[in-house]
Amino acid sequence: MELNMQQCELCPRKCKVDRYMGRGFCGVGATLTAARAMLHHWEEPSISGTRGSGAIFFSGCPLRCVFCQNHALSHEGYGAEIAPERLADLMLELQDKGAHNVNLVSPTQYLPPILRALEIAKPHLTIPVVYNTGGYERVEAIRALEGYVDVYLPDIKYYSSELSARYAAAPDYFERAIEALCAMVEQVGPCVFDGDGMIRRGVIVRHLVLPGCRRDSMDVLRGVADAVDVSHVKLSLMSQYTPDFAPESEKNLRRRLTTFEYQSVLSCAARLGYDGYRQEFTSSDKKYTPDFHLQGITGGMEEL
Ligand code: SF4
Repeated sequence: MELNMQQCELCPRKCKVDRYMGRGFCGVGATLTAARAMLHHWEEPSISGTRGSGAIFFSGCPLRCVFCQNHALSHEGYGAEIAPERLADLMLELQDKGAHNVNLVSPTQYLPPILRALEIAKPHLTIPVVYNTGGYERVEAIRALEGYVDVYLPDIKYYSSELSARYAAAPDYFERAIEALCAMVEQVGPCVFDGDGMIRRGVIVRHLVLPGCRRDSMDVLRGVADAVDVSHVKLSLMSQYTPDFAPESEKNLRRRLTTFEYQSVLSCAARLGYDGYRQEFTSSDKKYTPDFHLQGITGGMEEL
């Protein structure tokens, strides 16, 4: 796999576009673009801890799900262009601010400049680097991150190809996401936590239960359990779906999740032997979705 953007194949879309001249499915060109760097307090407890996760939100997305709650970034490409050297500085500034980790949110479409930033920053980081992805990854991309990433935080969003085609134009989503998940687990091994319960290494699998899709969610959980040893990963089962960005045509997505839907998927997770995190059902609230105002990107870190 060529790690370049002249004939971009960084994700399973393999658009082969020259991103110096145009854009592929992810909607962004070749210049690293980010919307916010912040201490994020609403990630999983072992990621956010007491001081917050050092989240850096990148623009564009290889998936662009129709209901995306970070719509301004994933669909509109909101953000400011930054050099890889500035990104390396941001990582170190977040560490100086007390972040428990550096959390790269939706990074794959910028893999080459992010690797350049990590080459600069990684030797100076004492906190883990978290790769926070929608899960639609190439195994080769995960292998390129070996030695730079300590914790993988992939979504596994859909099981059925009909659903992933409908909501993300990616009928091969589950197949690609499971291959990538296996490569992540093979690379970083079982979860390791420090004395304060903060994750130092490992994989946390995220899944957002969507309204009308509880059976697909259970299939996701079964599919993951078939592919990896569930005792080697943590599961983060999320209920925070909000219908704000769902298109009018998607009736299922125009409502919130019900308690029954979430509880039934939680029960399935317990039966399959998963350990991890759940959300309080009241958490379908916009406070979990940060606003994006370029804070921390173009200048120094914002005071939080
Ligand atoms: S990163 Fe973007 S341009 Fe490259 S293959 Fe994926 S969607 Fe296409």
